[in-house]
Amino acid sequence: MAVTLAATGVAAVTGQTIPMEKTYDSYPTYNGEDLELTATPRATTFKLWSPVAEAVRVMLYPTDRNSAATDTIALSRGESGTWQATVDRNLMGQFYTFSVKWKGKWLKETPGVWAKAVGTNGERAAIIDFSKTNPEGWDKDRGPALKHLTDAVIYEMHHRDFSIDPSSGIVHKGKFLALTEDGTTNPTGEKTGIDHLKELGVTHVHILPSYDYNSVDEANLQNNSYNWGYDPFNYNAPEGSYSTDPARPEARIAEMKEMVKALHDAGIGVIMDVVYNHTANNDDSNFSLTAPGYYYRHRPDGSYSDASGCGNETASERQQMRDYIVNSVKYWAKEYHIDGFRFDLMGIHDIETMNAVTAALKEINPDIFVYGEGWTAGDSPLSADLRALKDNVAQMPDVAVFSDDIRDAVKGHYSDAADRGFATGKPGLEETVKIGIVGATAHPQVDYSKGNNSRAPYAAAPTQVINYVSCHDDLMLTDKLRLSMPEATDAERMRAARLAQTIIFTSQGTPFLWTGEEIFRDKKGVHNSYKSPDSINAIDWNLKHANAEQMEYYKQLIALRKAHPAFRMSTADDVARHLVFDKTTVPNLISYTLKDHANGDTWRDIKVIFNGSDEPREVTVPRGNWLIVADDGKIDANGGLGTTRGGKMTVARRSALILARP
Ligand code: CA
Repeated sequence: MAVTLAATGVAAVTGQTIPMEKTYDSYPTYNGEDLELTATPRATTFKLWSPVAEAVRVMLYPTDRNSAATDTIALSRGESGTWQATVDRNLMGQFYTFSVKWKGKWLKETPGVWAKAVGTNGERAAIIDFSKTNPEGWDKDRGPALKHLTDAVIYEMHHRDFSIDPSSGIVHKGKFLALTEDGTTNPTGEKTGIDHLKELGVTHVHILPSYDYNSVDEANLQNNSYNWGYDPFNYNAPEGSYSTDPARPEARIAEMKEMVKALHDAGIGVIMDVVYNHTANNDDSNFSLTAPGYYYRHRPDGSYSDASGCGNETASERQQMRDYIVNSVKYWAKEYHIDGFRFDLMGIHDIETMNAVTAALKEINPDIFVYGEGWTAGDSPLSADLRALKDNVAQMPDVAVFSDDIRDAVKGHYSDAADRGFATGKPGLEETVKIGIVGATAHPQVDYSKGNNSRAPYAAAPTQVINYVSCHDDLMLTDKLRLSMPEATDAERMRAARLAQTIIFTSQGTPFLWTGEEIFRDKKGVHNSYKSPDSINAIDWNLKHANAEQMEYYKQLIALRKAHPAFRMSTADDVARHLVFDKTTVPNLISYTLKDHANGDTWRDIKVIFNGSDEPREVTVPRGNWLIVADDGKIDANGGLGTTRGGKMTVARRSALILARP
């Protein structure tokens, strides 16, 4: 792959001297699974990829920190840019670091880029017996089967948000183990924890970064510091602050596996948020300390380019980095039974890498899926046609992207707190909402030229789109509604939230919600709460009692979607054939029919009407025997709310009317 960068020569950068970019393509690469450590009770082999090193050594330690090296081992040049040494000893229980000599200097110690077990703050890698980290029944453990990604209902959550508040009733607050506790309740007896997830009916949890990240000091957990975790340190070991003992490498591994097993036993899949697009550190990252410069893109002057907005961006188009990403997700899928991956700022990666990722995962388990943010946070030296962007998703058949179209059109623009959307009464967004409803596929009745964010159908199938109105980023739904509807009551805002989510959960594509929206929790108006304290981020589970009707609506909405495949079509052809919009020019009104047993549905026709205005609207429904599924802010997925013969009907203000006939 051609990457046009850097002129000639060598440019001086802070701390490191980066050779010209073109040189990197000439590095030999090594794709073996034995990189860095292979340990048995008889022998231990170290094998570091570092093509430009002048010397490499390994230091052995008895503990994870605060101890002197007991041994220093020199590695010898091996095949394909690697350095290697084998020790004929059982080193189980010991810790190690690498150090690379480059341009006459020994660089700082690093646990390497393939540390799979680490101690406190991930500073030293550990030699452990992985077979002892498996929970009972692990060999038979399996995530939920999934025919298409559109059959999933995704619940995005942060470990600490979910369990840290006293009202969770959970013992292991803020830990992986929180999700293994059943029978937990809030003070008024409503279910919390994993039982809450089962009650809600979601099929998958999407856990915010759970690899070892940089910002929370694992040696001082009593500080209760908080971070989302978008600052990767060790990509292939779990985060220590979510374990009961960061100093004991086995703890974080075994406890994360126990979490996965408990969720799988509950029929819930686990999606991991992965952030290969940048690292927490620049010159001091594990990438830089093993192969200076190689893993990153640079500007012509040699400085780090920054499409992540976090100080650097990785270079997936380079073979060793591409293989690294592929091998890393393979490792999580195999060792931790992860069911899906959410790629942060996926647009920083190249299309070829994302296709290599999905091909490798499908070989392990065809049900594993991948989605990501189809954008970057800044410009990149990688040319736009090569980037894994939303507009290029049709070139990545097994990848889905977040629909910023439906997100901004339904609730108002993410960057303007006061801006309203279709569901809160702003006219003119109907066509953009329709782009979301058809899963961004080509549809004869959708005029993409009127789209706010996209001007062309970008998805080849609805399985390539994730529909949502809020996530961990930006104002969450409750806060957005409070700030954009200042005159309204919370009851009225909850009504708007129900309409917004009804649009998401009935649309073609895969629905996604942010933790706690189902009980109308808020984050006190903080839009970027990545390091805010628990007082902002923690879920107050008392809200499940106070907002019980909201929870019930979400439950019914999810049940409706799961019971009716018409909402989960998997091809663009099916959507074009079975989803027919009614012609209307009334602002904030969208009406359509899912007709002729769409996608094998038991219902012949489903009429879906959204009224985002604060006035009731009259519509005409074909005569027939209709079951009223949703009306006036209420929904009943099973028995329905009543029946109607159709004809002239009223859609109550700011609500959805859903009718079905067999
Ligand atoms: Ca950490």
